[in-house]
Amino acid sequence: MIKSSDLKTMIEDSRDVVFFTGAGISTESGIPDFRSPGGIWTKMAPIQFQDFLNSEEMRREYWHRKFAADKTLRIAKPNEGHYAIERLISSGKASVVITQNIDNLHQDSGVPEEKVIELHGNGTFASCLTCDTRYELDNIKESFLGNHQLPICKFCGGLIKTATISFGQAMPLEPVRQAESAASDCDLFICIGSSLVVHPAAQIPLIAKDNRATLVILNRETTALDEYADLIINDEIGKILSAVITP
Ligand code: NAD
Repeated sequence: MIKSSDLKTMIEDSRDVVFFTGAGISTESGIPDFRSPGGIWTKMAPIQFQDFLNSEEMRREYWHRKFAADKTLRIAKPNEGHYAIERLISSGKASVVITQNIDNLHQDSGVPEEKVIELHGNGTFASCLTCDTRYELDNIKESFLGNHQLPICKFCGGLIKTATISFGQAMPLEPVRQAESAASDCDLFICIGSSLVVHPAAQIPLIAKDNRATLVILNRETTALDEYADLIINDEIGKILSAVITP
């Protein structure tokens, strides 16, 4: 039987831990994941990036969904799992957290910005797809809900979208490079709360494994990479991480 104390020992014996998180770490903060029963994809199909670019109707639908779900993201606070990761990073034992999440909760838990590698961007603000100017969501929300106005960049006229990576949109080069480098250099790689089916993000744990890191998966259900793991813990994230990474 696998015990959480096995993970504690692995962490103690390691030189450099890297965390890799998915939507599952934030469900205990009240943000639904995508693939659990009742998750977002069981209710509606994602809007593809090309559809966002090509269709005003899809852009309206995109912003409508964003603001319908926005309150959940705004009121969410980090949970025990986020704080445990923050503790191991601030102790110097873990170097970074690579995340597929867009909710900013690792930063909110106290992990410095430069130690959070966001593979899929950040949903707490927006940016111009052409010139990358940052826009705050409050202003966009006011014009969209009040005057039905779709946001357009005031500098270049480009389309504005939340600063996230949609399906069909290219991955951001620098975060991917940083994630690959962290995965290559660590000796313990811990995947937390991800079904590990979204590619290319799900390649990153395999890079760690190929470079002889020990691979741990902590997830309630089986994942697509279970066959590569050295340790699998099928349990609740907050409970396990707070027991393993104590203050
Ligand atoms: P996913 O929904 O595919 O998988 C989440 C996994 O976490 C599931 O296997 C589920 O069983 C597990 N899980 C959920 N709560 C758990 C808990 N408390 N304890 C243990 N396990 C738990 O998520 P994914 O692999 O991250 O892929 C989804 C994509 O959607 C990602 O690319 C991410 O960008 C995005 N997303 C982000 C958020 C967010 O920012 N919070 C939320 C939804 C989706």
